[in-house]
Amino acid sequence: MSVDEQALRGALEQVAGARLQSLRLTDGVATIVLEVGGLERLDRDKLEMAVRDAARKAGATEARIAMTAEKRMRRIIAVGSGKGGVGKSTLSTNLAVAMARLGRKVGLVDADIYGPSQPRLLATEGRRPEAEDNKMIPVPSPFGVPMLSMGHLVEPGQAIAWRGPMAGNALGQLMDAHWGDVEIIVVDLPPGTGDVQLTMLSKHKPAGAVIVSTPQDLALMDATRAIGLFEQGKVPIIGMVENMAGYICPHCGEESDPFGNGGAEAAARTMGLPFLGRVPLDLSIRQQSDAGNPPAAGDGPQGEAFASIARAVLQWLDTAQ
Ligand code: ADP
Repeated sequence: MSVDEQALRGALEQVAGARLQSLRLTDGVATIVLEVGGLERLDRDKLEMAVRDAARKAGATEARIAMTAEKRMRRIIAVGSGKGGVGKSTLSTNLAVAMARLGRKVGLVDADIYGPSQPRLLATEGRRPEAEDNKMIPVPSPFGVPMLSMGHLVEPGQAIAWRGPMAGNALGQLMDAHWGDVEIIVVDLPPGTGDVQLTMLSKHKPAGAVIVSTPQDLALMDATRAIGLFEQGKVPIIGMVENMAGYICPHCGEESDPFGNGGAEAAARTMGLPFLGRVPLDLSIRQQSDAGNPPAAGDGPQGEAFASIARAVLQWLDTAQ
């Protein structure tokens, strides 16, 4: 049976759609390149079988199939802070959940070697990732955000004394896992400016960074150092978030500013950086977070604070080069 290239192309497009990257036909032998970025192994295998079958039915004597993942556009958002305790992990979780609620495929990597808290925040404590082909499979969370944490690489409660290269390798394992169709990975970095952050910047090339700070001057000075690290690594700063601004007393409703207010916004302005939004100091944020129930998954006012930051980040991502 002779084969016509046009007909063969049509038959392949029926099963592979836009994933058919190229087709060449020589003496009845079809050389086919498929774009398989974002597909899990099983789906890749299914696609390959379907394409082989379609090529044979259309009359090719042999189908040589190559697969590439070139077009894969997975982007990393690094969340950093100058020091611990400012709410970087809380923001990472809620930013990821809020972006997922806005319809994006979002994953989360907890690279905080000093205190990996994401298993608790995303209610995946005690779950261990499975592996396939020597790569980890991210743990699904109840909020549609698959995740992997440094905490998954050690026994619960075991003290971690990471040395620089070890931590870098561990981070590599989390980043190079089977992320499937995840298009955005939020990375909760350790606070400060050490080895893990440098590895992140040089090896995994985040599309941009979000800097979290509380409003007071000291925290802002630390945040400035973190910003310097990203700028040195040529990672664009998406913007700054002010956390723990404006405390609303749960008893009397009066608003006060234990850490000041507006400091991060003013600092962002001085440094010429976008300001992404403010999250109030709110007891229910801590309580819900500790209970593995991220406020961004709910419909309260705290959820809206995170949703608004998520919209700003997505707008940046969608318009970034
Ligand atoms: P970091 O990752 O910067 O060390 P965390 O996200 O772990 O900080 O936050 C430190 C503590 O502060 C946690 O107990 C967290 O629940 C709490 N927290 C964070 N942001 C807020 C907020 N806006 N309101 C109340 N508590 C918060």
